[in-house]
Amino acid sequence: MPLTLLEVLRRSTRHLAASGSETPRLDAELILAHALGVDRISLYVQFERPLAEEELALIRPLLAARAQGRPMAYLLGRREFFGLDFAVDERVLIPRPESELLVGLAIRLRPDAERAADLGCGSGCLGIAMAASLPRLRCDLVELDPGAAAVASQNVAHHNLDERVRVREGSWAEPLEGLGPYQLLVSNPPYVTTSEWERLDRTVRDFEPRRALDGGEDGLGPYRELLPQLPGVAAPGATILLEGDPRRLGSLERLAQELLGGVATLRHLDLVGRERVLEVRLP
Ligand code: GLN
Repeated sequence: MPLTLLEVLRRSTRHLAASGSETPRLDAELILAHALGVDRISLYVQFERPLAEEELALIRPLLAARAQGRPMAYLLGRREFFGLDFAVDERVLIPRPESELLVGLAIRLRPDAERAADLGCGSGCLGIAMAASLPRLRCDLVELDPGAAAVASQNVAHHNLDERVRVREGSWAEPLEGLGPYQLLVSNPPYVTTSEWERLDRTVRDFEPRRALDGGEDGLGPYRELLPQLPGVAAPGATILLEGDPRRLGSLERLAQELLGGVATLRHLDLVGRERVLEVRLP
């Protein structure tokens, strides 16, 4: 007797629950929908349909990968961020909901900005979300890793932003020499300490790119590199928005004061009330 879609869904859910998924039913539904090429709600109108062996063959490897901890975003190749759809794969960090705070702040604080740059852009989610929300904004996305830069370019094209958003390969603000000045500079650099990285949940540590997470011994190394480069490309009165670890936002603020001297700074809270984004206003 071939299994019905509902029976496959039930068995898949049990399998994922047993292997540690916190959202086994949702994951199973998303995997089945993805494998069958339909949206999740359409599964419900075909529960009684028997699945063909070829369909099961598409579902099995996805279930097995999920059971081993592979993040759903990589399995599906997509993640929603700031209401927009982004392509993601193992070359980029999966966009996190807490980073939406940075985009919201950018739009609220600098709706007047003409030029913006996102340093270490990964999937491109920050800069693309800003440009999608501010129709006059031109944005440069800087990325050192060629694989991640390729994903960012794919996302720029997917959102039809090629005219206003450019991906530039290089380290932090280096590729921006002579292109500015920028009124808005944003970054979500690697800020987990190396020892924290070693203890991260395996679904993060074993699958997401280390270079996007590991910020060195004290988690502040990347900021030490990028902060001194910013005044050289910034417009007068430019706004800098940096995502950081809530436990170290005070240290990041002192570092910014020390490296940039006499700047106005403000710490912003994320959705769960933790200090997550440092705002720096240049003179
Ligand atoms: N918020 C991420 C995490 O905890 C870290 C992102 C980063 O290092 N930029 O997984």
